[in-house]
Amino acid sequence: MYLGYALRKMARELGLEVKDGVVCGIFKRYAVSMWEGLSGTKTFSISAKFDDKLYEKLDKDFSELEYKYQRLLYIRFMDDTLTAEFSDNPGTMKQFRNCFFDVLSILDQYDIPDADICPKCGLPMYGQGVWSMCEIIGSKICLYAHEHCAAAMEREVNRQLEIGKRTPVSKEQFIKDIKEAYPEESIKEIEKAYKEIEAEQNPGKRYLPGWIGALGGCILSAILFVVLCLMDSGSHYSRGGGLSLVACCGGFIIKKGYDLTKDTYGKKRCFTIIIMTVLYVFLGVLGIAVVQEAMAMNQFNTVPEGISIVEECRLYIHSGIRSVLLDKGRFLIGLIIFTSVSLFIIIVDLYNDGDRDERMRRKRLQKRK
Ligand SMILES: [Zn+2]
Repeated sequence: MYLGYALRKMARELGLEVKDGVVCGIFKRYAVSMWEGLSGTKTFSISAKFDDKLYEKLDKDFSELEYKYQRLLYIRFMDDTLTAEFSDNPGTMKQFRNCFFDVLSILDQYDIPDADICPKCGLPMYGQGVWSMCEIIGSKICLYAHEHCAAAMEREVNRQLEIGKRTPVSKEQFIKDIKEAYPEESIKEIEKAYKEIEAEQNPGKRYLPGWIGALGGCILSAILFVVLCLMDSGSHYSRGGGLSLVACCGGFIIKKGYDLTKDTYGKKRCFTIIIMTVLYVFLGVLGIAVVQEAMAMNQFNTVPEGISIVEECRLYIHSGIRSVLLDKGRFLIGLIIFTSVSLFIIIVDLYNDGDRDERMRRKRLQKRK
């Protein structure tokens, strides 16, 4: 993970370590971690065995903090961690720092177990705790616990996710599975969940596979790309500005197209969207050459008279391809620039979507040698 100067500096001041791009260590009596998100966030977290009742007690204090610090997106308890996330802008670091010390002084008023107590099993770690960065459905938590306790949590979460995403074979089986994984859940609640899943799985029939929707989005994006780039530069695609950047957002239309026809998440979806993004930019850049040729041919009256529309289009395409071949360098440079920008935009977006049907991933943080 990437860690900028500001957090590195704060780590040094607090006497914390940086492991795999994450600040972590024991500060005062708290297991503290800090990191930066790809989408422009800064987060600090305290890992401890928090009392269940603590959240209700702290609710008011937290909403006051969220009010006091404009950059604070949220502060909440998640799986034995207290996590505060900030949007990263100029001036965020000052709020981040002040809020961090505010939170510590709030926690000081309560009897929070020492950092050396494992949040999972409640036993002392005698300094043998490991730091794990866990990622689940797009959100991250940083945990300081026994290695075997963290590994057990990972297995348990994934087991529950596995059960949760399994297509219910029958209502009876579903109730039995869920009751096993969540013994405290009432039958009535499970029946309600079953109905919800059933309704979600049949949201009206889908007649087309996802790639057809993505291809539709791809063609639409290519057309918009040609129009926007030509409007932007007048005659030359390699001199793009604002509209050309908008033209590079075609990946979103492709994603929409895919999701409209097939609503499944995972690797196949990412792969289809990325391939179609490369294709639309290629068609778009080629399309610009064709349209430019067509405009030039009409301007200089070089289109033979009396030919059909189809013939005429064939002539434009032929001429466009020939102009591309005559100036391959310019075509390739345009293609590389636009493909990189478009891919960057859609990959960041897909990354933020999170792999919704993936498992929880845990990474044990280690000091780089
Ligand atoms: Zn433990």
